[in-house]
Amino acid sequence: MKMKLHWQIFLALIIGVIFAFISRAFGFESLVIEQVSILGDIFIRALRMVIIPLIVSSIISGVTSIGGSKNFGRLSLKTMSYYLLTTLLAILTGLFLVNLLHPGVGAHLGLEQIPENLNSNVEKLGDTLMGIIPVNPLAVMVEGKILPVIFFSLLFGYFITRTQQPYQKILTDFFEAVFQVMMKLTHFIILFTPIGVFALIAKIVAQTGTDVFLPLAGYMLTVISALSIHAFITLPLILYFAGGINPFAHVKAMSAALLTAFSTSSSSATLPLTMSSIEENAGVSNKISSFVLPLGATINMDGTALYECVAAIFIAQVYGIDLSFSQQFIVVITALLASIGAAGIPMAGLVMMTIILNAVGLPLEGVGLILAVDRILDMMRTAVNVWSDSSGTALIAVSEGEKGLTVLRK
Ligand code: ASP
Repeated sequence: MKMKLHWQIFLALIIGVIFAFISRAFGFESLVIEQVSILGDIFIRALRMVIIPLIVSSIISGVTSIGGSKNFGRLSLKTMSYYLLTTLLAILTGLFLVNLLHPGVGAHLGLEQIPENLNSNVEKLGDTLMGIIPVNPLAVMVEGKILPVIFFSLLFGYFITRTQQPYQKILTDFFEAVFQVMMKLTHFIILFTPIGVFALIAKIVAQTGTDVFLPLAGYMLTVISALSIHAFITLPLILYFAGGINPFAHVKAMSAALLTAFSTSSSSATLPLTMSSIEENAGVSNKISSFVLPLGATINMDGTALYECVAAIFIAQVYGIDLSFSQQFIVVITALLASIGAAGIPMAGLVMMTIILNAVGLPLEGVGLILAVDRILDMMRTAVNVWSDSSGTALIAVSEGEKGLTVLRK
């Protein structure tokens, strides 16, 4: 009997961790870091290969099937409201816990590293927001800049529906056909997920080990607890009460995507899996998923926003700086913006930290305090990001009257 994909991935994850520990015990971790990791790189490259054509064809074919500007407007409003609301809830959970547990007060870390090029990131947020409008749509596709590609594809899809026949039908059919091919190709790559996940995990664990965790245990615990509250309590309650969705069934449907998000630390790289899981396992239509998911993978990052807030206040606590109420408010707002601006790639959240530190006048070197454990926390926050995207997609599908969901409460 063939094992289900999510079990294969789970097993690969465990074997990867064990393998990495064995490599550290017997001193061949450099082999894992340099050689075994190549399998992980190949897997990520293959996923990245499909992202742009998948997003373009999926959004265009999705928007053409939404039909009419009224539906389009309503869907956009719902999507944005869900994203903003859940991100804010996540940040507030983090804010509450970091003020409750005070992980940074009196912490002597002794592992400060000064990251390079801190200042260059500070201006990035404004550029990102402005950059949503591509000057050259082909250039942004070539460069793999997801947000402007989404923007252009949405417009292109919308204006196909405004075009006369036979052009409208030709283009609708064409992009639907491309989308079908991209999904087939994606499925093929997804077959290799267990191998990729094994290699990615083995590399991270071989590289990090467990020594770095001790001095930052309080900080990690705060982030992980807050992430858990958001992922295991807040979002499931919303799913259950607002959408009549069974959270357990939904986790099961999304498990391959969630495990891949955890292993790759990249919402964007996971997008092909997220899309196929939500459509094939949860039964959401492509019409909804193609609109909500690519956008979500890029701008809806509950886990990242929560982590930004906890990390900024943790850094302030370590430096012995008391943040006033208004400063904490600024942290909340900038954490929200930073999570929207962060790309769905590994450690994007860490880069965006500089924006928050800058906004409340904290030393940028503070980023160095949390660097050692960032990769591990990145895995968790990325899984939460993808969990929130997929929960939102299912909720919106229900609210749009879709009946075919398999994850509905019985
Ligand atoms: N790695 C995260 C993601 O792709 C972003 C982050 O660094 O927080 O969703």
